[in-house]
Amino acid sequence: MTESSKLPRQASVVIVGGGIQGLALAFNLAELKVRDILVLDAGYWQGGASGRNGTLIRGAFSSPEWTRFFAHSNRLWLGLSKRLGQNVMFSRRGYTMVGEREATAQLLQRTLQVHRDCGIDSEMLSPGRLRKVLPALAHERVSAALHLPDSGVAPHHAAMHGYLKACQARGVDVRYRTEVSAIDRRDGQVEGVWVGQQRIACDTLVLAGGAQSNALADMAGVPLEGYPMRLEAIALEPTRALIGPAVALLDRLCYMHQTARGEVVGGAEVAERPQVSLGADVPVMAATAKAYAEMFPQLGAARILRQWAGLVHISKDFGPLLGAHPHLGGLHLSAGWCYGHAGAPAAGELLARALVTGVVDERMQPFAVDRFQRNCPVHEPGIVLSHFE
Ligand SMILES: Cc1cc2nc3c(=O)[nH]c(=O)nc-3n(C[C@H](O)[C@H](O)[C@H](O)COP(=O)(O)OP(=O)(O)OC[C@H]3O[C@@H](n4cnc5c(N)ncnc54)[C@H](O)[C@@H]3O)c2cc1C
Repeated sequence: MTESSKLPRQASVVIVGGGIQGLALAFNLAELKVRDILVLDAGYWQGGASGRNGTLIRGAFSSPEWTRFFAHSNRLWLGLSKRLGQNVMFSRRGYTMVGEREATAQLLQRTLQVHRDCGIDSEMLSPGRLRKVLPALAHERVSAALHLPDSGVAPHHAAMHGYLKACQARGVDVRYRTEVSAIDRRDGQVEGVWVGQQRIACDTLVLAGGAQSNALADMAGVPLEGYPMRLEAIALEPTRALIGPAVALLDRLCYMHQTARGEVVGGAEVAERPQVSLGADVPVMAATAKAYAEMFPQLGAARILRQWAGLVHISKDFGPLLGAHPHLGGLHLSAGWCYGHAGAPAAGELLARALVTGVVDERMQPFAVDRFQRNCPVHEPGIVLSHFE
């Protein structure tokens, strides 16, 4: 993780952003025998969203497109420690999506069908089964619960450590506190990037800049539709084991899990949250705590231990922007990630393969950067960020 030694004058691939997306891509490129890979990050290690998230790994959603992609990623998470040679501490504790409104129960029924069509293992929990899986839940509020047995959680520090070490062991040059300030292009082709006064030549450039994706795309002269969004989380003081699986409370746009230490960690979407600050925000904290206490009454007495925020990049349909940019040769994106922790193993693998072979995997195709121009957005009603029907 060099910060001060001389930068190379050229690289075969430059990746801007050393969050989990940039590192997962670099690792997979190195595995495909690409050499002279350079990862440049303006901040400190884990300073972006990849060091600030809720650590939940969800392996299926409500649309077939998201489900196929994230199920693949979930499968890769299961074997990731072995592949990286580092323990990413993936805990396959399951993930339960809880609906309270009747409309949400119907959505979960449709979701179950999507999972069956995609060959995903999921189960609509009967009231009796739900009491076993989540005994502390306010069962009288629940209209339906869909359970994903293969999903779970993986602490972000372990995943980031695993990817970074595996990259470095394969000779990837990863630099933090190294900001890309300009991008060179000529005749519709990327030619290099600038770090201060130094130019680094490259003909393949990947922007994995998280919340800064719009600013980076502007530098390349290819404006991107999307915006940075603040997400925040809280950790409650440790309590005895109350919550087994990871949980999404769909009607409250809220998610959570309980760590091995007993802290309940998660967050909720509140419309009036500040857009781009990292400071503490009492209304969002209070709204999250209220959702926790109403749905898990035994948490009502627990105090908030920590609060933090992070910024993600949101695309027009909330889905990732993954692959080649249609208007600038050599430019590729890994942006638009609101579930970018869960999605990193698949994104890294499939984008690396597309870069090396030119073949775009069918699980990646729906998230092509030009899909809005083609009028092909992907509608995903089961995320805890946007409102669903
Ligand atoms: C509170 C919170 C909870 C979340 N919970 C979950 C969850 O439970 N599950 C899940 O899957 N996802 C979750 N997410 C989302 C997830 O964290 C992100 O989608 C993911 O980390 C995105 O990874 P990234 O590498 O694209 O971005 P980042 O980790 O933000 O990395 C982008 C990097 O680009 C660098 N950069 C930007 N501009 C430049 C430049 N000019 N030059 C050089 N470097 C630059 C930045 O310094 C940064 O390090 C959550 C996010 C937050 C904030």
